[in-house]
Amino acid sequence: MTRVDRQSWDVVVVGAGGAGLRAAIEAREQGLRCAVVCKSLFGKAHTVMAEGGIAACMGNVNAHDNWQVHYRDTLRGGKFLNNWRMAELLAREAPQRVWELETWGAVFDRTPDGRISQRNFGGHEYPRLAHVGDRTGLELIRTLQQKVVALQQEDRREFGDYEARLKVFQECTVTRVLKNRSGPGGRVSGVFGYERESGRFFVLEAPAVVLATGGIGKSFKVTSNSWEYTGDGHALALLAGARLVNMEFVQFHPTGMVWPPSVKGILVTESVRGDGGVLRNSDGKRFMFDYVPEVFKDKYAETEAEGDRWYTDPDHNRRPPELLPRDEVARAINAEVKAGRGSPHGGVFLDVSTRMPAEVIRRKLPSMHHQFKELADVDITAEAMEVGPTCHYVMGGVEVEPDTAAAVGVPGLFAAGEVAGGLHGSNRLGGNSLSDLLVFGRRAGLYAARYAAELGPAARPEVSDADIASAEAEALRPFGAEGTGAAENPYTLHQELQQSMNDLVGIIRRAPEMEEALHRLSVLRARARRAAVEGHRQFNPGWHLALDLRNMLLVSECVARAALERAESRGGHTRDDHPGMDRRWRRVNLVCRLADDSAEPAVEDPALGRIRLERQDAPPMRPDLLELFEKDELKKYLTDEELTR
Ligand code: FAD
Repeated sequence: MTRVDRQSWDVVVVGAGGAGLRAAIEAREQGLRCAVVCKSLFGKAHTVMAEGGIAACMGNVNAHDNWQVHYRDTLRGGKFLNNWRMAELLAREAPQRVWELETWGAVFDRTPDGRISQRNFGGHEYPRLAHVGDRTGLELIRTLQQKVVALQQEDRREFGDYEARLKVFQECTVTRVLKNRSGPGGRVSGVFGYERESGRFFVLEAPAVVLATGGIGKSFKVTSNSWEYTGDGHALALLAGARLVNMEFVQFHPTGMVWPPSVKGILVTESVRGDGGVLRNSDGKRFMFDYVPEVFKDKYAETEAEGDRWYTDPDHNRRPPELLPRDEVARAINAEVKAGRGSPHGGVFLDVSTRMPAEVIRRKLPSMHHQFKELADVDITAEAMEVGPTCHYVMGGVEVEPDTAAAVGVPGLFAAGEVAGGLHGSNRLGGNSLSDLLVFGRRAGLYAARYAAELGPAARPEVSDADIASAEAEALRPFGAEGTGAAENPYTLHQELQQSMNDLVGIIRRAPEMEEALHRLSVLRARARRAAVEGHRQFNPGWHLALDLRNMLLVSECVARAALERAESRGGHTRDDHPGMDRRWRRVNLVCRLADDSAEPAVEDPALGRIRLERQDAPPMRPDLLELFEKDELKKYLTDEELTR
């Protein structure tokens, strides 16, 4: 074993996006010593890419908004599969978290009378997204970063050391959550990781670990996600004995760039539609009017004139169908392209140029204006954009206790943000992720701190040398890849994985294709054991990718297995062979766990793969929350038995 640096902390947060930073701030404010680990530079997490805004029912632009309406919208968006308690907490607590952010220095856009401005977004009944132009995530991270620095300055005054109670380990990757082996299942004892630049290994010992690692989009070929989204936290949780819930629900955002090929998948924010942009096919038709599903018929405009009036008089008109939840819009675009009514590069047209004056577009959508000009040489103030679906967000994730964000079944493990599952049900509403990060990031930090404090120094689980040695051996394997068979190139394996997931477990799914995907994944897993890299550990991206492959393969298997099992279409999961939503499936959560908790089984059962899938009953909604809906609406989602009860 090479020398491995060891440090001791109270709470370790893996991830420095919105969820991770909010968790770390909370743990530190509880007086505990908190370490934050992140793959990229501090301030560069995926959250900075968030554009449209944070959903919070502050009622600044429409006073009718309140937490009950936000709750209803979130449940409708998720097709009632959401963990109802998480949705309630989100709706109730998001405004406090946004105001708090403002007191920490966030500079939101304002209404004419000086309040935080809020914009329309798909599925939200009222203008609800607090925003900073179309660069909201950047402001969120800037503010949280500033708060971290302020806390570090406090510590410098008190202890003479900026990093006494809050330290960021940037450009470091965690490859294992460690546990002690005593007691059933064991408790979390820390994390093992490596510095990306030097390749040096380290262990951070801590009784509480918060996973805040974001999503999984890099397993798909066309995605809006950043390079960090290799499903690390999902895999770390599985390997530590936690469970992932409802991984079949992957959100394909309706509007990604489709041209030129080098930028395919990059996001075109929903704010474009929220602020008046319309979707047209190659015949010039606003086709979304043909795609309003039965469950939403009474809530969306039937004519273009009504839809257009809604922007200025929302109280007397219904919203345009371009603002349906994302799953509906993505499917509609997919259908138009398939029917031969797409744009020249395989998308449809999204137009703001005929809807707003050029200076308004430049003011409200500065990033979009810049993005299209720079990347596609399209001036969105004068011409339509070409857009199509792109893999954007994973609704599935670590199964957590709703109030505490504790991962079910693994004492000391917590999860918040995109890596956690349950909140968004089968489909997330735009803007609900940023509020999720703040609401559940704070809760994760709070309860991780309480857990660590209650455990006390004497009862801290220990990290064993054997566990460190095994984590180290696993990390070094690509340098001496297994003897049998030809060495494999990690980049080739990654490309094949992305292509398979895109083609076989993408926006529209069929059983034989998903079976084929599972077969290909088992072949890729075997080949990934022979993934080999040259050179040494100093900044070696091929090595990093070889290690990330373990995570992407595990997570992709969860997605494919759960997608094959759920024989209905709901939210982000569309089955060509089971096109309808089936009320009986609403009560079913699909839960994935590792079939065998050895790092890699000597012999893998090809039928079982590495993942075991179970059905689990979704908890029934609290009666007072059920009463927020009309019975006629509930009939569309709940079984007769539930309705009678
Ligand atoms: P992230 O911000 O992704 O942070 C993950 C952190 O984990 C990073 O620091 C990363 O380095 C670290 N990490 C990952 N793996 C490891 C590892 N193994 N070891 C150490 N560190 C690790 N949502 C909204 O609500 N509103 C919007 O307007 C909006 N716009 C979006 C626009 C775009 C283009 C995209 C792609 C998404 C958008 N979203 C939006 C979604 C939202 O941005 C994300 O869901 C959210 O930012 C995720 O935050 P997070 O804190 O969970 O993770």
